[in-house]
Amino acid sequence: MHLKKISTVLCATLLLIIGAAFSVHAQNGYARDPNQAVDEDYTKKIGEYTTEKFFNSPLTDYLPASPNVPTPKAVLGDVAGAPGKLPYSADVYKYMRMLEKASPRVKVFSIGTTEEGREMIAVAIASESLLAKLDENRTRLTKLADPRLINMNDAEADKLVDESFPIYYITGTIHSPETGAPTALMELAYRLAVDDSPYIKSIRDGMVTLITPIVEVDGRDRMVDVYNWHLAHPNENWPPLLYWGHYVAHDNNRDAMGLSLKLTQNVLNTYISWKPQVLHDLHESVPYLYDNTIGDGPYNAWVDPILTDEWQLIGWKNVSEMTKFGMPGVFAHGTFDTWSPGYLMFIAATHNGISRLYETFGNGGADTLVRTLSPDEYQRTWYKQNPPLPRAKWSQRNNNNYEQTAILISLDYFNKNGKLFLKNFYLKSKRSVEKPKNEGPAAYVFPGDDPRPGNQAALLRLLQAQGCEVHRATTPFTVTMKKKPTPRARPSSSPAATASPAASPAKKDDTESRTFPAGTYLVRMDQPYSRIADALLDYQYWSPRDPQTSVYDDTGWTFGEVSNVQVVRVTDVKALDAPMEKVNGAVVSPSGIKGGGGDGGTLYAINQTADNNLVSLRFRLKNSASFEVVEEPFEVAGQKFNRGSFLVRIRDGREFEKALADLGVTAWILVEPPKVKTHALKIPRIAIMHTWLNTQDEGWWRLAFDQMGVPFDYISTQDVAKDPDLNKKYDVIVFGPGNGNLNGVIQGRPMYGNPIPWKKTELTPNLGGFASTDDIRPGLGWAGLMNLQNFVRRGGVFIGADDSASFAVQAGFAPGVSIQSASRLKAIGDILKTRMVDAASPIAYGYSDTLSVYCFNGPIFNVSNVAGGGGGRRGGGGQRATGRGTVDDPDVVQGRPPAELPEPPPQVEVWEAAPVQEEQRRNLVGLIPPDQRPRVILRWGNASELLVSGLLDGGDEIAQHAAVIDSPLDRGHVILFSNNPFWRGQTAGSYSLVWNVIMNFDNLNAGRKLDEK
Ligand SMILES: [Zn+2]
Repeated sequence: MHLKKISTVLCATLLLIIGAAFSVHAQNGYARDPNQAVDEDYTKKIGEYTTEKFFNSPLTDYLPASPNVPTPKAVLGDVAGAPGKLPYSADVYKYMRMLEKASPRVKVFSIGTTEEGREMIAVAIASESLLAKLDENRTRLTKLADPRLINMNDAEADKLVDESFPIYYITGTIHSPETGAPTALMELAYRLAVDDSPYIKSIRDGMVTLITPIVEVDGRDRMVDVYNWHLAHPNENWPPLLYWGHYVAHDNNRDAMGLSLKLTQNVLNTYISWKPQVLHDLHESVPYLYDNTIGDGPYNAWVDPILTDEWQLIGWKNVSEMTKFGMPGVFAHGTFDTWSPGYLMFIAATHNGISRLYETFGNGGADTLVRTLSPDEYQRTWYKQNPPLPRAKWSQRNNNNYEQTAILISLDYFNKNGKLFLKNFYLKSKRSVEKPKNEGPAAYVFPGDDPRPGNQAALLRLLQAQGCEVHRATTPFTVTMKKKPTPRARPSSSPAATASPAASPAKKDDTESRTFPAGTYLVRMDQPYSRIADALLDYQYWSPRDPQTSVYDDTGWTFGEVSNVQVVRVTDVKALDAPMEKVNGAVVSPSGIKGGGGDGGTLYAINQTADNNLVSLRFRLKNSASFEVVEEPFEVAGQKFNRGSFLVRIRDGREFEKALADLGVTAWILVEPPKVKTHALKIPRIAIMHTWLNTQDEGWWRLAFDQMGVPFDYISTQDVAKDPDLNKKYDVIVFGPGNGNLNGVIQGRPMYGNPIPWKKTELTPNLGGFASTDDIRPGLGWAGLMNLQNFVRRGGVFIGADDSASFAVQAGFAPGVSIQSASRLKAIGDILKTRMVDAASPIAYGYSDTLSVYCFNGPIFNVSNVAGGGGGRRGGGGQRATGRGTVDDPDVVQGRPPAELPEPPPQVEVWEAAPVQEEQRRNLVGLIPPDQRPRVILRWGNASELLVSGLLDGGDEIAQHAAVIDSPLDRGHVILFSNNPFWRGQTAGSYSLVWNVIMNFDNLNAGRKLDEK
């Protein structure tokens, strides 16, 4: 009884609060137009599908009526956010185009297609008169975005600001299981086009709202399939969304640096061409609305402080207004650190705009569910004074209410302060152009004599795709630089920067001059998009003592390092005076045929540089040329060729020349083959194997293979389980990382309940295709493990990295390799240095003594000459016992002749297997024959040099351990990577380690020196 009384009192209080909210919204200027009719039916449904009154606001608890503009109901058959309704992209686009047809205030633009050919759109909404002036406004915004066009004239900029109207760009559903945004944005578009509330009219008349309702279109259509399957099988377990986009899942929102995915390219190009002041990306994972724009530290170190203040301005306005409406669970700050620039929204942050992001609360579909939160979600904190309810019924409509209310508040605030944001847009652009004479650097310099012109050109093309201008020096030029610090003078954890940081001005005697050859590329920092180049090319340092202990994403990404390309940060502004010309069109590496020899000939040499265009050339010419590689370096007429260089015998000269030109490769005519050992490069049959547990990280591998034109079959662990003779089909099986432990790969998913299909059916037309199964639950199984091991024993090559390398070690595929567990190591998505151990291995072809690679707490390998580890004593270090003589003298036993001491065990490095001693060798059944012992190709750098970029703590645990191992197993090879060679389209420098394995799959023992015993 008491309880009932209390709840009655509570309800009365709530009513009062809601009543108060209405008057507040009127005061705040969100009043409706009293003369505009309301769509009663639609409005009633909004109320019905909203589970509590306080999960809605006066901005979205009604829908204005229009005599000629259709509401979302026209396509959905119900209101936006209705239970059980999840529209396909085609339906969302159909509605947007209906709006365009019915209202002169809406225009739909096609902005490109996805990997699977689906369309992406952007919908512009504003008054007719603004939409008519889009082009002239674009001309003005272009000048504000590039202040060089108005000679950095502030008065002229003020005039342009006065005349211009700003643009706010909203993007929805990049993360496919976060399903609410499309319907919210359909309804939002309707409101903006139709509603005559003074504040909405003002938005419509003052600015353009640009909307991409679905960013991940391939994933959206698959998600709707999965949801529809669930509706058709209400009492069964339904498939998780295994594939979102064609390649990756959640990581599609980590591509704003590498620009590997179509969705990123399309949004970036839309951003650069429209020049909006805001890019606002919608997500759903946190109750009920987390405006993570402001986030938490550490903030990205390359963005303009003007931007970080703008985050606060807009973010707090959002929280404050929704708090006044009485909507619980609206907050900012939280745990999201704003360090990595990889998120889609960061396209704006690194291009002088404003990045924004909401996490609202979704149910992963359109079911209405009772949701129980965890204490860390519902507890009150300093930044969450009105937290979400511990337990509440939650609907997709609630989610749509929150999303729309928050966006409308933001649009209203942005519109009212439009001139401020336009002026800030100009100021940020101007400060980007002024970078060389303020914070620096002056330029990033790409030396004209870089040994890897192919990777260099690819990195420069990425910068061009980011909107940066690239210049090329027409003569040699000289700049003053701070001398490289000696390793000893540096604290052990600081990055090995190639040039002086601007922050510590060089003393006179600390400087040296450096001359770059003609043909050197420069990315000048006196250009409007200098900030993205700075963010990508600079070094990152995340202190192990940073107060932020839950790191959100990668901590290091330095693109020159992970591309294996020389990039020099130059602070000397004299660099900008070097004679240079702007590169028009995409940067390409030099190509063509060099050297003479009669009538052209048919034998050519191509230098091995570990450039990625070499593998592309090899596979492109698989039918029209035969390839050999040299196992030792050679020289012809002054031209040096590295170990691993190609000798190409061509059958079709025109095709050869075209391929060289397209790929940017130079070939030298040879009169006769060099007198060094060679082996033939055959075309391997490659499979990439995936599990049905997780397909995200291996997606980056597939993407790189496709980009470089390396063909492969895509098979699952279930296919391997069924095939006892894999060698009949494949030479190389690649198992990408991200699949968990040995047990998970073997067992798959629990076999309880119903089969869970992933395949194309009438009900699910977007599933299957490139990967398909009747039941995702079974794993590799024991038979599959045996098939895989037999594949290697019979001569196949298995490639694993990170946890798929651990899988191979745990499964006994690499008897001499063991994994040491880490207790202190913290290498959170950073760049670490490796060193060459065995340059004669084909895996090392084209590489130099050091290579920077991506590492996320990679497995710490130990190698041994005894199966299962152990064996061999590590020598050295032993000090003599107490006795006669000096420390270097032998002790002498009294009363007998001095004994002859055995040779002390030799010094063994951390990455080496200790030689087995005579005493141990007796009846040692585990002794691995010399030709079956693990061969270490690369090792991690020494502790003092290990960190290149990012966060590293406890690095001594992994320092010097083997990083890349070729472990023979009978006739085959197991190749193990402690690093991840293919990561987010960013690690082009380590790709060739894998290309080398693939191209030399049947000659991996080349250059190998065997132990004597
Ligand atoms: Zn998300």
